[in-house]
Amino acid sequence: MSFPVATIDASALRNNLAVVRRMAPRSRVIAVVKANGYGHGMIRVARALADADGLGVARLADAVALREAGITQRILLLEGVFGAEQFALAAKEQCEIVVHSPEQLDVLEQFSGSHRFVVWLKLNSGMNRLGFRVSDFAAAHARLRRCSSVSLIRVMTHLSSSEERDDPDSWSPHSTSVQHESAAADRGARAHVAATSRRGEITVTQLQIFDDAVAPLGHERSVANSAAVIAWPESHQDWVRPGLMLYGMSPMPGKTAADFGLRPAMTLSTQLIAIQNIGAGESVGYNGIWRASRASRIGIAAIGYGDGFPRSTRNGAPVLVAGREASIAGRVSMDMIGIDVTDLPNAKPGDEVIVWGSGLPAERLAPYADTTCYELVCRVTSRVPLLWRE
Ligand SMILES: *Cc1c(COP(=O)(O)O)cnc(C)c1O
Repeated sequence: MSFPVATIDASALRNNLAVVRRMAPRSRVIAVVKANGYGHGMIRVARALADADGLGVARLADAVALREAGITQRILLLEGVFGAEQFALAAKEQCEIVVHSPEQLDVLEQFSGSHRFVVWLKLNSGMNRLGFRVSDFAAAHARLRRCSSVSLIRVMTHLSSSEERDDPDSWSPHSTSVQHESAAADRGARAHVAATSRRGEITVTQLQIFDDAVAPLGHERSVANSAAVIAWPESHQDWVRPGLMLYGMSPMPGKTAADFGLRPAMTLSTQLIAIQNIGAGESVGYNGIWRASRASRIGIAAIGYGDGFPRSTRNGAPVLVAGREASIAGRVSMDMIGIDVTDLPNAKPGDEVIVWGSGLPAERLAPYADTTCYELVCRVTSRVPLLWRE
């Protein structure tokens, strides 16, 4: 067995899909498996989540890989495709496509194949990344309606700040019918979205803009990412699109996945490979950024930024050594980290070190590295084997 290793728990993935279903009981679920299944291994994740109503990916190459692996589920291309060649390939692979730009409409109108696409027409409700602005949305919709290569239209948007919500009670998985009427009625807020700091106001505005634009059309709708599944029941609508929560991490500030009954699917672990006994005043690692205030024992663990453990991680970040919490000491190297195990007198080479996952949520580490758990799992490098446990 080599170290480090990312152990992936398939039953956690299934548990987390069940949590999504409980939170959004009237919605169908597009399981987002982009970026190699958030670093967990896209194909295996897709197989573990065979009960989802579809899979969401960002790149056409991912869809091709899923089909090559024999996966027949619905696949939604979240950014759509670009150019006639890609449209033809998306058709061949039986993908549903997001249409968010006039350039994509042009290609669709010229499409000569016999395939008829299911199109998810995207509204830019304030994220200002992808989608038609409100003023262009009706015209885009009309063009789609006239398009002979389109069999069905659904409508979608994406929220920029769904993890921000005023009322912490609404995050509870037990209160699934939260109303936010006063805020929803507050349409005047739209004019000063950017100027206000009230938590959740951006989302209220985005939901209202989406509703105003799509209500007359009568299509099935999709808005919610993980944070919206958890915190914005009114956003669930016909289709939810969770990613992060399926992998057992929490997008909500100050909350871990366990607060919502989610279980981490990835445990990134390694071993202690050496112990150093150092005197007070001595430092550890490159540039001596950690200095011992007392005689100390430093465990050296085989994981570093070459494995995707962020070099930016600060001293004091938590890790588990043989199940007990200790903290990072010194700068993260390419292949190693130092851990202050002075208070763990039994720590010895060969002990298991967990940097995130079972017993230590990635949400705990992320702030020490000025990042999010999204990025932590996505950037685990290819030298770390993924070990699946069914
Ligand atoms: C990545 C993505 C999601 C999933 O977001 P999470 O925050 O991981 O749940 C949903 N919708 C779109 C369009 C995305 O790009």
